[in-house]
Amino acid sequence: MTRVATPTRVATPARDATKRTTRCRWLTRPRDDDARRRVATNAGNGRFIVGGNWKCNGTRASVKTLIEELNAGELRDVDVVVAPPFLFLDEATETLKAPYEVAAQNCWVEPGLVDPTHHYDSDTGAFTGEVSAEMLEDLRIPWVILGHSERRNLFNESNEFVGKKVAHARFHGLSVIVCVGETLEERESGKTMDVIFAQLKAVATEIDDKEHSSWGSQVVIAYEPIWAIGTGKVATPEQVQDVHAKIRQWLADNVSEEVAKATRIQYGGSVNAGNCSELARLSDIDGFLVGGASLKGDDFVKICNTSAVHYKAIGRKPRSGSVVTYSFDEDGELLETK
Ligand code: PEP
Repeated sequence: MTRVATPTRVATPARDATKRTTRCRWLTRPRDDDARRRVATNAGNGRFIVGGNWKCNGTRASVKTLIEELNAGELRDVDVVVAPPFLFLDEATETLKAPYEVAAQNCWVEPGLVDPTHHYDSDTGAFTGEVSAEMLEDLRIPWVILGHSERRNLFNESNEFVGKKVAHARFHGLSVIVCVGETLEERESGKTMDVIFAQLKAVATEIDDKEHSSWGSQVVIAYEPIWAIGTGKVATPEQVQDVHAKIRQWLADNVSEEVAKATRIQYGGSVNAGNCSELARLSDIDGFLVGGASLKGDDFVKICNTSAVHYKAIGRKPRSGSVVTYSFDEDGELLETK
């Protein structure tokens, strides 16, 4: 299947007319020009995309060190999105240099930003402990990770709830990495694709606006087999390629051909600096979502730079203007980035 990019657009999914929202005010406000705070303009461009999910890790000191390590790394021709805990989002936004972009690890599904100049529905904001999409938008956080298996399993988030969250985040202009994946038991009983298709359907049902403009450009799917997350057990290249190809086919059959071509599908599950090259060669892997290894700056930068391995494998030329040169060994393993 030939992959094409679709233009980035602000989506306008259908809304429940009975609900009042604050959306128009926030979306019409001009955005900050600062490159570190920009919206996700690269989405949907077919570029390799790597996410770093820091989960519930970090102290003030360790986050400072990690950010310094990341800023010291040379990255070219790859989209990189790091997701610190909420408390460190602002610091990461302020101090990480381009091309790094920042993601929240979750957000709430209902309106939640209280603006003293406006009146709101009585339930607005009464969600103790939650962070709303409006707040992320207000802080110029361009991305959010939704449906991570730890949210689904530890916090009982259903497919439908995740679907609603994705639609709500998109409604507020956030780009979304939505995670899908099966347990070991589901894989062993042959239910992998049933589980993943049900997760995808719940998202598609909620964001299925007329032109599907909410999809390809600003929704990234992360396939994360639950049995591979944080376990050191990586899915085989065959398993990954098989699932990714089926996800793409599902998008073609159930959303549209355009969306199937433009949507980037990441693999996540014990990706590290040692195994990333082999996986990056797969044609249907458009990037990685990385947990543990994203806490080690040097390793994470190396994982991001396997974009070069991917482009070589699929025959894509380096972007014009790229000043980075890559050297490979005879097996196609990335040796050096200069
Ligand atoms: C994740 O949490 O999304 C993840 C893939 O974790 P790890 O890389 O540690 O398996």
